[in-house]
Amino acid sequence: MTNTSYTGDVHSHAGRAHFYRSPEWKALREQVLERDHYECQWCKAEGRVTTGNDMTLEIDHIKTLEERPDLALDPDNLRTLCRDCHNKRHGRFNYKRLGRPKNPYASDERW
Ligand SMILES: [Zn+2]
Repeated sequence: MTNTSYTGDVHSHAGRAHFYRSPEWKALREQVLERDHYECQWCKAEGRVTTGNDMTLEIDHIKTLEERPDLALDPDNLRTLCRDCHNKRHGRFNYKRLGRPKNPYASDERW
């Protein structure tokens, strides 16, 4: 079985920055992008195609790093989101582009 856990510090900004710079993460990130066909998975669910050509794509931890460091490197816990969707997920609202009245994913944050 593949070891998917990350044993480093995930509770500080510096620790997480270190994680995101690790070669393991960089390799896995590419793998997830490829698996998701370089498409934002939330936009896809809404019938829109958002690829790296339209928007910066980011990899989201479904269970956050702080919550489940043991799933930090588990592809099943990772998904491709565009920057807009990723910001929405983490409550960094920016409606300039989409002009939505409210965040349809607000309840997603309550696990
Ligand atoms: Zn999106």
